Amino acid sequence: MDQTRYDVAVIGGGIMGSSVAYFLKALDPSLAECVIEPDPTYEFCSTLRASGGARRLFSCPENIDMSNFSIDFIKQSPQHMAVDGREAPVDWVEGGYLFIVQPRGMRMLESHCAIQRSRGCEVKLLTPAELKQRFPSMAVDDLGGGQCSPRDGWCDPNGLLHGFRRKAISLGAVYVQDRVAGLERGGAAVTGARLASGAVIRAGAFVNAAGAWAAQVCDMAGMPLPVTPMRRFEHYFTAGGPIERLPYVKDLERLAFRSEGAGFSGGLVDGNEPRGFNFEVDHGYFERVVWPAVAQRFPVFQAAKCHRTWSGLYEVCELDGNPVIGSWKGKLENFFVIAGFSGHGMMHAPASGRAIAELIVHGGFQTLDLARFGYERVEKGEPYPETGII
Ligand SMILES: Cc1cc2nc3c(=O)[nH]c(=O)nc-3n(C[C@H](O)[C@H](O)[C@H](O)COP(=O)(O)OP(=O)(O)OC[C@H]3O[C@@H](n4cnc5c(N)ncnc54)[C@H](O)[C@@H]3O)c2cc1C
Repeated sequence: MDQTRYDVAVIGGGIMGSSVAYFLKALDPSLAECVIEPDPTYEFCSTLRASGGARRLFSCPENIDMSNFSIDFIKQSPQHMAVDGREAPVDWVEGGYLFIVQPRGMRMLESHCAIQRSRGCEVKLLTPAELKQRFPSMAVDDLGGGQCSPRDGWCDPNGLLHGFRRKAISLGAVYVQDRVAGLERGGAAVTGARLASGAVIRAGAFVNAAGAWAAQVCDMAGMPLPVTPMRRFEHYFTAGGPIERLPYVKDLERLAFRSEGAGFSGGLVDGNEPRGFNFEVDHGYFERVVWPAVAQRFPVFQAAKCHRTWSGLYEVCELDGNPVIGSWKGKLENFFVIAGFSGHGMMHAPASGRAIAELIVHGGFQTLDLARFGYERVEKGEPYPETGII
């Protein structure tokens, strides 16, 4: 049987796995590392189906800090991720974010705004009149107000993933085209990964970056992980008439959309969607669910046209909607999880990839303290929820 040994083996080569691979090499170029990814076309991976939004509008300080680092990183990544002088474009658009809420949501926005400002974010609360002035097409009569963050925006998730991947490979990371089918344990450690091809990979540390499939991979090591796959639709649509350029707009009912080319990209997240690996597209969803919401908020969308709908999987952390970043202390010390981002994984990939690399190389967080996102809260059943709009 073919056996290969690395210092670190990363399971899953989407944006999380590729970010970890890059930061490991950046922190310690001498590490021998591989990334095990079955599909180099990334057909079903969540990253390529994401909407690309990146924002600082969170309540947990950790999420805000991860956004601050990640957004700066994304903006600089064309140069940072350049290989042999060839830049790695990510099409960053600093279009801003805008949360809009009914009066019942204003207290929440105000308290989150204070936390975000304390962490250096440029954010502003807006009255309904100010909203109307900035966005004349918006119906504001039922609103208590909004909050904008002009330095946020969106990028091309495919470009960001491939930037990490190409850079990691240029630094010596090996991408193995295979699927992990089983994990071998010895004491408080994972000792090997059995691949679908029959090969075995041995490593000093393993990283579970399998996204919506992360709980399956944890299961192979006997580690319960409350992360489930949840289908979500994204649509490309156009308005029925002229409309001002919009930032990334989100509301309390989880309507979320942004300008894209001549139209808009977005959807309305149904948190009650049954969990499972379901990629089937419901072509009636836009007309039934998204259109009434968007047309009520912006009447010019009464005549909206949906041109394309696609589906992708959120990797939902059922405990609290926040990610699990770290190992299982005392039980599986060398098996690191980076999963459960619940719709925010693209924007937090740079910061969380760096965090996992720090845990492996230095044995602890060096830059951002993400201890509260560790596995301990899962073990104890103690949620640490994000209370902003998710
Ligand atoms: C419609 C939609 C819109 C979104 N919009 C946004 C957004 O605006 N902003 C944002 O930040 N996030 C957004 N997200 C969330 C974001 O896409 C995810 O959080 C992020 O892509 C997760 O990255 P990942 O690398 O963990 O998972 P993935 O990209 O899914 O990668 C996981 C990889 O693991 C591999 N894998 C699975 N099983 C195994 C195995 N047994 N062995 C080896 N490899 C395996 C898979 O092949 C896959 O390539 C959105 C998601 C969806 C679906």
